[in-house]
Amino acid sequence: MVRETGKGSTKLYTCEECGLEFEEKFWAERCEDYDREHNACSLEIASHAVIERHGIE
Ligand SMILES: [Zn+2]
Repeated sequence: MVRETGKGSTKLYTCEECGLEFEEKFWAERCEDYDREHNACSLEIASHAVIERHGIE
């Protein structure tokens, strides 16, 4: 199940299979489906994940 996390006004969706976070639930769900089916992450889907932004700016 995709987990919703709220960080301020930003809502993120976490893939519980691999822990990647997405801004769109659509991608988080696709990621979970892919992970379960292939037991691995899809690079294409992972490219839509939110990269850790803390401390970068
Ligand atoms: Zn995943």
